[in-house]
Amino acid sequence: MKKELNILPLNSWKLPLIKKPLVISGPCSAETEEQVLQTARELHSQGIGIFRAGIWKPRTRPGSFEGVGDIGLEWLQKVKKETKMLVATEIATPKHIERALDFGIDIFWIGARTTANPFAIQEIADCLQGVDIPVLIKNPINPDVELWIGAIERINKAGINRIGAIHRGFSSYEHSIYRNHPQWQLAIELQRRLPQLPLINDPSHIGGKRDLIQSIAQKAMDLNFDGLMIESHINPDKAWSDAKQQITPKQLSSILDTIVIRDVSPEGVPLETLEEYRYKIDKIDDDFMDLLQKRMEISEEIGKYKKQNNMTILQAGRWAHLLEKNRKKGEKRDLNPEFIFKLYKAIHQESINKQNKIMNDE
Ligand code: PEP
Ligand code: MN
Repeated sequence: MKKELNILPLNSWKLPLIKKPLVISGPCSAETEEQVLQTARELHSQGIGIFRAGIWKPRTRPGSFEGVGDIGLEWLQKVKKETKMLVATEIATPKHIERALDFGIDIFWIGARTTANPFAIQEIADCLQGVDIPVLIKNPINPDVELWIGAIERINKAGINRIGAIHRGFSSYEHSIYRNHPQWQLAIELQRRLPQLPLINDPSHIGGKRDLIQSIAQKAMDLNFDGLMIESHINPDKAWSDAKQQITPKQLSSILDTIVIRDVSPEGVPLETLEEYRYKIDKIDDDFMDLLQKRMEISEEIGKYKKQNNMTILQAGRWAHLLEKNRKKGEKRDLNPEFIFKLYKAIHQESINKQNKIMNDE
């Protein structure tokens, strides 16, 4: 039997300035003492309680700026002393952990490339045995919830119980407006699987450009995320890494002002109306299930017919016709063609599975 995870809710993490959303901000990378301190001062004056800066940077290609290293830890120490903000940095190896602890770093995060590697995560977990520090775990670069949960489990087994997840999007070959595709359904699935786990959204790395930060952050809040990690810099265009996605502390503050925070069930709001709508939805879902069942039963009959008559399961012409017909019908009903396509692909695949079973098992 797998042991249950032991993860503390955010409100018992003993962090100062915790309100929803929890905001962590600071530059992608620490570059100079001046840049770190100036950014931190401005963030602090905007009411931000947690400062982030990358000290060791995992870069895709060698030869680009790979972080300032240990000297940056001294600058973070100064931030802490002067502003009383908590300071966070990315750790990827036992060496990083030792150095970061020596310099009193308050919060660690594990980067997306590290989460994707169970060997690296296990080494980090072994090194964290007996250390009591919050650890935020970014999603792996590939869209694999199991791998993300696996990393959370490994760190939790090491005795870390202040664990949070950071959703920073997923690499993809497809061209899209995002730098890393959000694939929101994975963050939703993580919430379903680990409802107690604090969840933070990183609109900077999802969007890859500053114009997208506000809308991504708002969407995260509407999906009930607990916090936001947003990159900021006193001179974003001159940043040594991730320049396009960084914003000034002032811009951060205006973005945060526009974000509407909604509650799962706000106090004083009567739930009867919602209940009525849900009753109607449940009724439709019942009908939908009955129809699906009927549809599959007919598919099975067709399977028997095809078997008797030695016909292939896949009839490409019929499939193309069905898809096109329903796409048109869907459009008339204001149903997104992409959604209809996915829905019919899933239904068609299940019909094929059922017919395959009939052809080959019976
Ligand atoms: C970062 O936070 O700057 C970073 C490198 O993030 P990720 O691991 O999400 O790429
Ligand atoms: Mn970055």
